[in-house]
Amino acid sequence: MSDSGYVLDMRSTAENHFKLVTVNGSHCIDVSGGELWEDVLTRCVSRYSLAPRSWTDYLSLTVGGTLSNAGVSGQAFRYGPQTSNVTELEVVTGKGEIKVCSETQNPELFFGSLGGLGQFGIITRARVKLQQAPDMVRWIRLVYSEFEQFTRDAEFLVSQKEGESFDYVEGSYCNSDDSVNGWPSVQLNPVQEFNPSHLPQTAGSVLYCLEVAYHYRNNDHSSTVEAAVNISWTAAICRAVDIRVDVNMEFLLRVKRAEEHAKANGDWDIPHPWLNLFVSKKDIVDFDRTVFKKILKDGIGGPILIYPLLRSKWDSRTSVALPEGEIFYIVGLLRFVPKGPSVNEKVRENREIVNWCINEGLDFKLYLPHYRSKEDWKRHFGNQWTRFAKRKASFDPKAILAPGQRIFKRGTSTRQ
Ligand SMILES: Cc1cc2nc3c(=O)[nH]c(=O)nc-3n(C[C@H](O)[C@H](O)[C@H](O)COP(=O)(O)OP(=O)(O)OC[C@H]3O[C@@H](n4cnc5c(N)ncnc54)[C@H](O)[C@@H]3O)c2cc1C
Repeated sequence: MSDSGYVLDMRSTAENHFKLVTVNGSHCIDVSGGELWEDVLTRCVSRYSLAPRSWTDYLSLTVGGTLSNAGVSGQAFRYGPQTSNVTELEVVTGKGEIKVCSETQNPELFFGSLGGLGQFGIITRARVKLQQAPDMVRWIRLVYSEFEQFTRDAEFLVSQKEGESFDYVEGSYCNSDDSVNGWPSVQLNPVQEFNPSHLPQTAGSVLYCLEVAYHYRNNDHSSTVEAAVNISWTAAICRAVDIRVDVNMEFLLRVKRAEEHAKANGDWDIPHPWLNLFVSKKDIVDFDRTVFKKILKDGIGGPILIYPLLRSKWDSRTSVALPEGEIFYIVGLLRFVPKGPSVNEKVRENREIVNWCINEGLDFKLYLPHYRSKEDWKRHFGNQWTRFAKRKASFDPKAILAPGQRIFKRGTSTRQ
């Protein structure tokens, strides 16, 4: 946020645009920038039995807000991030112009706004691709004691073609019996309690949990579903334990339940000094060795996500900065820290991790980036910086939008 700046409450736009449209024979939904994804989900499913293809884990976020970053969850390996799943935007630029944009109409504004951190305009409407909503989801978790085994299986799964693998692949780090991200967090169903005695004797306190989901329809025969989920298992998975459960739309609303719980016990409103990174596959084993096993060996007081994504599913014309390699991991340190001095300590720890990545020359980028100086932003965007600055000069030449990010200073020339 910016000192003495304005904050736009986008909820006023939420109801404005909801409309089913057909583009080249495929269904899309027009939604307002201020609409929450959870409302998009429930309305699309209840009215049309359709649903967007790519999500975030938590859905009480606005359409414009996640499209300004990327919007990533366990479906992104297949469909790309949310920014790869919109065909048209309406944007109010920093010049005060209302523009409709797409791949062919005002493409610089369209691709600039996607992942553009709100720097070029305010997204007031988005046209989002839809697919048939599944009736049910088979939700499975597997626990690994070896990082290399976990990454090998995760990379295998995300490299499979549609129809030959799962519809959702995520993973998390799991620290022994820690109450937040330890074994209890792996449990999906009270009757399928995770039994640590299944782990090999060689297992250390750091474990890795692969989380997958498979979509199916009510009239699919149970043997078909079993066969679909088992083909991948026998082909590639050496699992320590698997825990499975069948759920419906609740699967996409799973973090809402965690939110309700955190609100009830007061954890939701405490500080969250989160750090999210994209780390290239070539550096992820080093990252595990130093960051997970040394710097964060005692856990972080919150979930740690780690799962692979494919660069080819992202459009390089958007503003999002990515590592170079085709396979890269999203690493999310989702800290919950009680108010007090430990907050600064955790922020320092985040900086230590980022500095370690820079000093070791890792192929990485911050996701949901936040830097304090223009030099850091230039390094972040790398060879995309000139394009980013040029787009700023075209669409918000006075640099009035999102100045709190300290990328461009209000009143100075943005063309550099
Ligand atoms: C609890 C939680 C869970 C999350 N989980 C995920 C996740 O699983 N995957 C993921 O990818 N991200 C996740 N995020 C991050 C999320 O994508 C970003 O924080 C996003 O900005 C949130 O949207 P918002 O509606 O809350 O935006 P706000 O916090 O309201 O805005 C953030 C910034 O985004 C820009 N912005 C917002 N709306 C618009 C608009 N309409 N037009 C242009 N710019 C705009 C502005 O620069 C604004 O300052 C999570 C965030 C939270 C708080």
